[in-house]
Amino acid sequence: MPFFAARSAQTTIPCPQCGKPMTIERSCHQVYMHCRDCAKTYPIEEYVRKADKAMEDFLDNCYVDRI
Ligand SMILES: [Zn+2]
Repeated sequence: MPFFAARSAQTTIPCPQCGKPMTIERSCHQVYMHCRDCAKTYPIEEYVRKADKAMEDFLDNCYVDRI
């Protein structure tokens, strides 16, 4: 595995279904919210406005990756 910034991070954003904190994750060209309990993903757009520190750091790293 080459070095990349983390592919996921724990956030404090609650899952809309179960209320447990979701993780923020990314694949090649996409970033999304993921609930491990529900095994569901949610579009990041709905959560960016209430992003917490973990989310902001994660998104910062995404941009750093684009070198
Ligand atoms: Zn959930």
